[in-house]
Amino acid sequence: MEKKLFINLGRCIACRACEVACEKEHGISFITVYEFRDIAVPLNCRHCEKAPCIEVCPTKAIYRDEDGAVVIDESKCIGCYMCSAVCPYAIPIVDPIKELAVKCDLCAERRKEGRDPLCAAVCPTDAIIYADLNELMEEKRRRKAERIVEAQRKAVETLAYFG
Ligand code: SF4
Ligand code: SF4
Repeated sequence: MEKKLFINLGRCIACRACEVACEKEHGISFITVYEFRDIAVPLNCRHCEKAPCIEVCPTKAIYRDEDGAVVIDESKCIGCYMCSAVCPYAIPIVDPIKELAVKCDLCAERRKEGRDPLCAAVCPTDAIIYADLNELMEEKRRRKAERIVEAQRKAVETLAYFG
C-alpha cells in the first residue's frame, strides 16, 4: 500500500493552516497557498512519478524513499540547484543557512511514527489528504452510496407525507 498526498482544490478555503504548521515544523514552509480570483491553490512538491530532480542531480542526493516520497540527502547535496532549475514548479529552494537545496519530504519523521504529513493532518476541510488511492476511491464510493440511500429515504418520507 503506497500512500500519496492528494490536493482537492475545490475544498481549499485559503486559511493557510498548512503553511503555518509546515513553517512551525520545519522552520520554513514547503507549501504555499496561491490565490487566483476565487480559487486557492496549495502548491508543494508533487513527489512526481518520473521526477526530473532525481534524474538531474549530479551527486544522486535526491532519491525516492520506501514510502515513495522524493527526498534530499543533505550530506550529498552540493547546492548546485539543478533540481530547482528542472522542477516544473521550482520547488527545491535554498536553505540560507546550510546553503543547500531543501524541499518537502512529506514529514519523514512523522511518517516514521505512522503519522500523516502535517499539512494533511491540520487541513480543516480535507483539501489535503494523505491516502492510498484504492482506499480513497473506496471511501468516495461509500460516501456516494450513503448520499443515494439518504436521497431515497427523503423521497420515501415525502411520498408518505403527501400520502
Ligand atoms: S489548510 Fe487546507 S484549506 Fe487551509 S489553506 Fe491549506 S489546503 Fe487550503
Ligand atoms: S521537486 Fe519538483 S520535480 Fe522533484 S518531485 Fe518535487 S515537484 Fe517533482
